[in-house]
Amino acid sequence: MDGVLIVEDEFDIADAVRLALEREGVEPVYIADSLAAGRDVLLRAEIAVAIIDIGLPDGSGLDLAVEMRSSGSNAAIFFLTARDSEADRLAGFGVGADDYISKPFSPIELSARVRAFFRRSRTAAQDDKTIVVGRVRIGAQSGTIEVDGEPVALPALEFKLLRFLAEHRGMAFTPADLYEKVWAAAALGQADENNVRVHVRRLRERIEADPSHPELLMTVRGLGYRFDEPPRGGEFSVGSAWEQHEDADARRESRDHEDEKVEDGTWRHED
Ligand code: CA
Repeated sequence: MDGVLIVEDEFDIADAVRLALEREGVEPVYIADSLAAGRDVLLRAEIAVAIIDIGLPDGSGLDLAVEMRSSGSNAAIFFLTARDSEADRLAGFGVGADDYISKPFSPIELSARVRAFFRRSRTAAQDDKTIVVGRVRIGAQSGTIEVDGEPVALPALEFKLLRFLAEHRGMAFTPADLYEKVWAAAALGQADENNVRVHVRRLRERIEADPSHPELLMTVRGLGYRFDEPPRGGEFSVGSAWEQHEDADARRESRDHEDEKVEDGTWRHED
């Protein structure tokens, strides 16, 4: 299970929250006593909920929340603070906070809220639309990726690119198309096709067994990219006899067939 991060410089408070969470069966719980220590935990652990104090020795907890959101984290964020003015509450929600708890507070009540969050997210995960393409499994809403059953962390933009291609599997898109669809808000000016190529390369490094010979995220010569399951010999023949007859000729024929489709740049998978 993904863990809970508590960023709080008052040890007694952090420890009371950790105890209450562990009593509710929530674990692992990480404690950081500064922004720097919090950043360190975020780099090396999967965090589902971050409980962040606003007044920290090396800066404001609000900044950490901004960093988390801009790096694509969709962890729940609970702010913990002695400041209870309306302006502080609004600032908290402005940076994407899910809840705001004023000190003094009951650690038991806080841990109950965290547990409620885990229950909600489990329900959401059950409703998550899953797209499976070859070795890749994509949780379209939860933002999770698995390749060969292993979770893979993807930056937000690469996740959006992969999800878009997977939702339109078998269809080819030019870099300009992809820029318009995936980069959306940024795409008001001229399409930055080089940017698309860079992200396609990074995505291949994460999901392809051999990024220089991709089998899923294919280049369609003269057109752009498409994402689909790797071709199997069986799809070019009828009946099971073919599958049992996998000699060198059959493999060569299927390869040649695939090359033809790629060459003319117009092949579409009817789905
Ligand atoms: Ca503090």
